[in-house]
Amino acid sequence: MPSKLDPSFEKQLAARVNYYREMGIDDFYRRPVDTGEASTKEHGREGELEEVIAAGVASSLFDASRPEIQDKPAALQAIREDIGDCTRCRLHKGRKNIVFGVGNVNADIMFVGEGPGADEDEQGEPFVGRAGQLLNNMISAMGIQRRDVYIANIVKCRPPGNRVPEKDECDTCSPFLMRQIAVIQPKVIVALGAVAAKNLLAVNDSMANLRGRWYDFKGARLLVTYHPAFLLRDPRQKKEAWKDLQTVMKFLGLKPKAKNSED
Ligand code: SF4
Repeated sequence: MPSKLDPSFEKQLAARVNYYREMGIDDFYRRPVDTGEASTKEHGREGELEEVIAAGVASSLFDASRPEIQDKPAALQAIREDIGDCTRCRLHKGRKNIVFGVGNVNADIMFVGEGPGADEDEQGEPFVGRAGQLLNNMISAMGIQRRDVYIANIVKCRPPGNRVPEKDECDTCSPFLMRQIAVIQPKVIVALGAVAAKNLLAVNDSMANLRGRWYDFKGARLLVTYHPAFLLRDPRQKKEAWKDLQTVMKFLGLKPKAKNSED
């Protein structure tokens, strides 16, 4: 017969499990424990809490208080190793490279797009094609450089023909992105386009409604703007995107790049 849990411990445990679920992690197992009295005394309450572990995940990465991650490159490498030669969704079939993410592990800003295109699939790096060049220019206009930020996508494999990733593909892949966010701990997340915004915020709304306001997201602030690929198709919206980026700059105290300055 399992012993009854202390109500306050049960509450803590439920909060921890809910937090994992919010991160998109649903697989749990219970670590076998020595039920002897000595063991309970030795491990204490905290030890009991850690008996429930999200599958394949270092629990310390997911503490709701966002503890400082000592070795971010190693933590990201562990996520990359968990992805492995991933076949978890159908997008693996046509890809050349898994596009994990790139940038400064201590970035204040994280840009999140939809998924890799042909250039990104070829090179294994997000935003390296024409849309990537525009994103670089947008970042540069903010007075910073690409190497100052972290860039990733909702899905890590190129959808065939650059189609929009399906919901089940986003749901399967995005937990890896959540783990990257938990490691990098950016101050601001900029969702690039409707697919990124809808998946991150778990809402189904138009860009007109999604833009123009801050959201709280996993300890960061999140703002929605247009995807650079959309801005290439409709350059008239660049002004609007610039307004969004200025909101981010104001929040972080960034000064725009001087007109005659070099990168
Ligand atoms: Fe795996 Fe993500 Fe690629 Fe799907 S898109 S195969 S979940 S890495």
